[in-house]
Amino acid sequence: MKAMLLKRLCNLEECARPLELAEVPEPVPGENDILIEISACGVCHTELDEIEGRTPPPHLPVVLGHQVVGRVARAGRGAERFRVGDRVGVAWIFSACGTCVHCLSGNENLCVDFKATGRDAGGGYAEYMTVREDFAHRIPEIFSDVDAAPLLCAGAIGYRALRLVNLEDGRSLGLTGFGASAHLVLMMAKRRYPGSKVFVFSRSPEERAFALELGAAWAGDIGERSPEPLAAIIDTTPAWRPVVEALGNLAPGGRLVINAIRKEEKDKEHLLRLDYPAHLWMEKEIKSVANVARRDVREFLDLAADMRIKPEIEEFLLEDANRALIELKMRKIRGAKVLTIPPR
Ligand SMILES: [Zn+2]
Ligand SMILES: [Zn+2]
Repeated sequence: MKAMLLKRLCNLEECARPLELAEVPEPVPGENDILIEISACGVCHTELDEIEGRTPPPHLPVVLGHQVVGRVARAGRGAERFRVGDRVGVAWIFSACGTCVHCLSGNENLCVDFKATGRDAGGGYAEYMTVREDFAHRIPEIFSDVDAAPLLCAGAIGYRALRLVNLEDGRSLGLTGFGASAHLVLMMAKRRYPGSKVFVFSRSPEERAFALELGAAWAGDIGERSPEPLAAIIDTTPAWRPVVEALGNLAPGGRLVINAIRKEEKDKEHLLRLDYPAHLWMEKEIKSVANVARRDVREFLDLAADMRIKPEIEEFLLEDANRALIELKMRKIRGAKVLTIPPR
């Protein structure tokens, strides 16, 4: 089969073609696995973190990609959940142990044996992949394959972040950064908490205008004071300054949830501006979001179908994955980037 392989880690400012198109053996489904014929795979910022080594794959070469949509091509021994031809998706959660305290409490995203799709196991930048049938998700009918792909990461993680802020309807929510995940969170928040106002902080005037279009009550720059103290804030930026600024905008007892797998190092000195009375006192909390559980993916897909969410998509051929990644690195973004793979 055709696959785009990551053979060595590199800095994307220095290498324009981090992945190599290769012919590799089609994976064989093991016990309880399904083989998926892939039709679409979303391109995520986390792929940049993998390529540049902030969350490096344990083995190389590897096939990246964790927003995979396709059809069941074959079932391994014991796999009975799907029929050949059924449409399924695979998200960042590839597997977890199923027996530890975190798995048993539904927080399998915290499992020490958590394996990520397209990092710890082969992902969707290829014609086929295998996954345990329990870790595949049915895709609601109303979505096309390409529209469903970006929902599997940005949407599902945004959904988990929104669960973790523990907002009460009527209290105000802030969003710091307004990319793929945050714009879906804004739509979900307006649906789930109709009495709450949403305040958006972004460096980019285009993102601020987009936030207002989608129904934000206010949009300002990262360093601006919010017009009112906020009960909860979700940060989706790769930087540190927005964390400090967000803490200054939290109401007493407020919670900041950081929705990022890794933060970049370049503006870390901003943390030295952290002022205990202004930023942390009054029982303010900071919590991170780690990975996703299957429950987040499935609940989000249902909610997205119910809300008829239509993501903005920019399509690329599988062979053009390098161009999609470099554009993402350069922040040349017009909606979610999705690789498409024609039927075999
Ligand atoms: Zn992702
Ligand atoms: Zn576990």
